[in-house]
Amino acid sequence: MMTAEQYEESLRRLNLVVYMFGKRIMNPVDDPMIRPSMNAVAKTYEMAGRPEFRDIMTAISHLTGKRINRFTHIHQSREDLINKTRMGRLMGAHTACCFQRCVGMDALNALSIVTYDMDAEYGSSYTKRFLKYLAFVQENDLVCDGAMTDPKGDRSLSPSQQPDPDMYLHVAAEKPDGIIVRGAKAHQTGAVNSHEIIVMPTISMREEDRDYAISFALPSDAPGITYIMGRQSCDTRKLEDNPMDVGNRTFGGHEALVVFDDVFVPWDRVFMYREYEFAGSLVEKFASYHRQSYACKTGVGDVLIGASQTIAEYNGAHKASHIKDKIIEMNQLNETLYCGSLSCAAEGHKEPSGTYCVNTLLANVSKQNVTRFPYEIARLAQDIAGGLMVTLPSEADFRSPEIGKWLEKYYQGAPNVSTENRMKILRLIENLTLGTAAVGYLTESMHGAGSPQAQRIMISRQVNMGEKQTYAKNLCGIKDETKP
Ligand SMILES: Cc1cc2nc3c(=O)[nH]c(=O)nc-3n(C[C@H](O)[C@H](O)[C@H](O)COP(=O)(O)OP(=O)(O)OC[C@H]3O[C@@H](n4cnc5c(N)ncnc54)[C@H](O)[C@@H]3O)c2cc1C
Repeated sequence: MMTAEQYEESLRRLNLVVYMFGKRIMNPVDDPMIRPSMNAVAKTYEMAGRPEFRDIMTAISHLTGKRINRFTHIHQSREDLINKTRMGRLMGAHTACCFQRCVGMDALNALSIVTYDMDAEYGSSYTKRFLKYLAFVQENDLVCDGAMTDPKGDRSLSPSQQPDPDMYLHVAAEKPDGIIVRGAKAHQTGAVNSHEIIVMPTISMREEDRDYAISFALPSDAPGITYIMGRQSCDTRKLEDNPMDVGNRTFGGHEALVVFDDVFVPWDRVFMYREYEFAGSLVEKFASYHRQSYACKTGVGDVLIGASQTIAEYNGAHKASHIKDKIIEMNQLNETLYCGSLSCAAEGHKEPSGTYCVNTLLANVSKQNVTRFPYEIARLAQDIAGGLMVTLPSEADFRSPEIGKWLEKYYQGAPNVSTENRMKILRLIENLTLGTAAVGYLTESMHGAGSPQAQRIMISRQVNMGEKQTYAKNLCGIKDETKP
């Protein structure tokens, strides 16, 4: 396993083509806007090296028998799935942001199942290719970007119906030694902090969409790949000389648009090639794993609840019964999210490939709650914090020899607490509910791993309605009925 320092050095060796604010970024690792997101991924390495977190953060590879970072592991038991949930919460609590590495883990696990299933159906040899690739990822302790979401153009049209054929990533040409791919993947979490990029289709496909039914992996700096960094609310505060105003000065996340401009993929890195019948299965497996992964929001919720209790104390309001009740409500919602992620892991099953997969229904129910509860937790945090969280002047004003004394005087809360500490915790709450971290805590909770409707469709497909009706009819004595 790599250390955090070795991970950082490994990123420096990449030759990524990254753009931000219209300019090429030659050194993403040290860029002040990107650096906090690199720190968050580096934390996955640091935590794996700490003895007290060994069981949660690491696992034994089923390929080599060696100890590996759990983010590169293929789940071999329900306990592995449960430890994945625990790892998400732990990492969320230690970074208070999206630490970006779960999406690649979920892509690897989904592919371990679907490559096997395709081989069983077609007699192909995808499993062999995939396991060789997996061994390379595990041996080198790599970060993989899980690239599913296409730009999608007109949402009412299928990939092959789009006026611009590149709105979904597709095969542009076939060569003796591989394929040429063209298109883009949007919203790619941690893309610039990744060594590898694993591409998957984003929706179920029909025969006419077969050129879009592809999955493959490439080094993140393969020729023809360009990264265009997304903006986040309050992001340029990281460029100012007021570290307190950032809220969380060490960690953050990032997303990017990743463009594939006629990129070559050798055959040994192609894991699905026009098997359109299996595109839906790959999407469903990845989505189920990734919906479980939102246990991370419970860890971020731990930080926000801790910050809310702290500001209540700093404001002198913590003994009020309604504040206590709001903190209880926040905990109730946060632990419900944890229950959901744990339950889909505990009810997991073994796939024919040997990989353990979460319970699909419970994973979707869990993620549906994630689209709601963090918003309510954030609302309660803002209620408890008070308006100062959004009207606070900058750190520079606090440091000013002329006016700093007024801020010290008028922003004093409980007498035993410094104004500076009160400001720090307010900025953290702002960061989590309105600033850069709100991308991960709120909007990612809404749309990441699929928008809310995607889970509702899966819930309606997965529930056994016939069984429920039979229970009801049996209990009230309905035996014969004429179907309407
Ligand atoms: C912070 C963040 C991080 C992310 N990280 C990743 C990542 O690492 N990898 C990755 O692959 N993806 C990632 N995503 C993408 C995420 O999976 C998508 O945002 C999600 O699938 C929704 O797609 P969209 O953003 O294109 O929204 P849309 O699909 O445009 O959805 C917007 C609304 O329109 C509705 N809608 C869309 N299409 C239809 C239709 N045909 N019929 C009816 N209603 C429709 C949706 O239900 C939703 O309400 C991330 C997203 C965010 C916000």
